[in-house]
Amino acid sequence: MKLLVINAGSSSLKYQLYDMTDESVLAKGLVERIGMDSSILTHKPTGKEDVTEVSEILEHTTAIRKVLEKLTDKEQGVLASVDEIQAVGHRVVHGGEAFKGSALVTPEVKAEIRRLFDLAPLHNPPAIMGINASEANMPGVPNVVAFDTAFHQTMDEKVYLYPIPRVLYKKHRIRRYGAHGTSHQYVSRVAAEYLDRPIEDLKIITCHIGNGASLTAVKGGVSVDTSMGLTPLEGLMMGTRSGDLDPTVVTFVMNKEELSISEVNSMLNKHSGLLAISGSSSDMRDITDGWEAGKPNETLAFEMYEYRLRKYIGSYAAAMNGVDVIVFTAGVGENSAIVREKTCENLSYLGVELDKELNKIRSGEPRRISTPNSKVEVLVVPTNEELMIARDTLHIVQESK
Ligand code: ADP
Repeated sequence: MKLLVINAGSSSLKYQLYDMTDESVLAKGLVERIGMDSSILTHKPTGKEDVTEVSEILEHTTAIRKVLEKLTDKEQGVLASVDEIQAVGHRVVHGGEAFKGSALVTPEVKAEIRRLFDLAPLHNPPAIMGINASEANMPGVPNVVAFDTAFHQTMDEKVYLYPIPRVLYKKHRIRRYGAHGTSHQYVSRVAAEYLDRPIEDLKIITCHIGNGASLTAVKGGVSVDTSMGLTPLEGLMMGTRSGDLDPTVVTFVMNKEELSISEVNSMLNKHSGLLAISGSSSDMRDITDGWEAGKPNETLAFEMYEYRLRKYIGSYAAAMNGVDVIVFTAGVGENSAIVREKTCENLSYLGVELDKELNKIRSGEPRRISTPNSKVEVLVVPTNEELMIARDTLHIVQESK
C-alpha cells in the first residue's frame, strides 16, 4: 500500500510518500510560504534529482494539488497516477483527552479537533486545513490523524493535574498533556527492539531534544510522565523557550514591564531559553562552539541547559523507581556528542557509564553509547515521526475495512 504522510503548519506543509510493502520513502518534500507572495515547493523524489519551484500558493488545497502534480510528474514523479495513494496520515498537535491513539477521520473527529483549537490555536487549525485539502484533492481516500499528545494519555491523574483549583480542570480542561508523543513512542519501541528485550519489562527515559525539547518516562511501554504540560512551554530549557519557571515571574514581568498576554507569551516561547542566555543563538551548534571557545554567555547557556536536562532525568528515575535505558533523540540528542557526554558524566550515581569513543560515532542508526559495565543502557535512536504515523495509518485503514 502507498500512503502519504502530511504535516501541515499555518504557512507550510511537509509530506512523505511511503510504499508500506517495505516502508521505503518514495518521495518527500516541503511547501513553504503558503499564502505569501512567492511560495516555494521543494520536491525530493528518491533516486531522482531534487526540484525547487517558486509559485503563488494561496492555501493548503492548492499546496496539496501541486504536491500531487509533482508526485505524478513524468520527469520528477514517482507515481503513475494519484489513485495509487490509498490513504493519507496527518500529524495533529493536540488531541486533548478525546484521543488516546490515532483515529480514522470522520465528521465527528474533525469536530473534536476543532473543539481543541483553544488548546492549540497555532497548530490545530492548519491540521484541519491539511485534512480538508486532502479530502478535496483525493475524494474517497481515507484520512487518519495521529496526535502528539495521544501517547501521554496513559499518565495518571496525580501526574497530569496541576495543584490549582479543580474547577479550572472541570471548566477548561487545564491539565498536563505533553507533546512529541509520536517520537517518544517510536524511539522507546526501537530501543526495546535494539536491546532485544520486551518493552513491558523496561523503564526507559526518552530525551527528545531538538529546538523544542521534552523528556518522557516510559514504563512498560507506556508514558507515565512527560515534561511538557498544558502547552510545550513547560519542562526543559529549549532553543527559544524558557521551560519551567515560577509562574509569578509572568505576572511580575507583565506588571513591571507593562506587557500584554501575547507579548509575555512571545517572550517565553520565542525569546527565552538558549537564545536569551547566550544572547546570540538558539542553535546548540553555536552554543557548543561558543562554550569550546570559552565565551562566557554561551558557556552559561550550555551549563544551564545541561543542568536542567540532568535534573529531569534524575526526577524520572525517581518517578519510575529506577531506569534501565536512557535514549537520546532529535536534533540535539542525535547530533551533539558533547551534550550527551556532559549529561551522562553527572549521572554516575545511577550507574551510567558512557563510552566516550562510541559516543562520538555518527551512524544514523540506533546504537549503544554506554560501556558493557554501565548499569543503565544509553542509546542514540534517530526519531522518525513520519514512519510512526505511516504505520498507524496503515494499521487503522486495514482495521476499518
Ligand atoms: P525541531 O524541534 O524543530 O523538530 P530538530 O529536532 O530537527 O528540530 O532539532 C533542530 C536543532 O538541533 C537545531 O536547532 C540545533 O540546535 C540542533 N542540532 C542539529 N545538529 C546539531 C549538531 N551537530 N550539534 C548540536 N546541535 C545540533
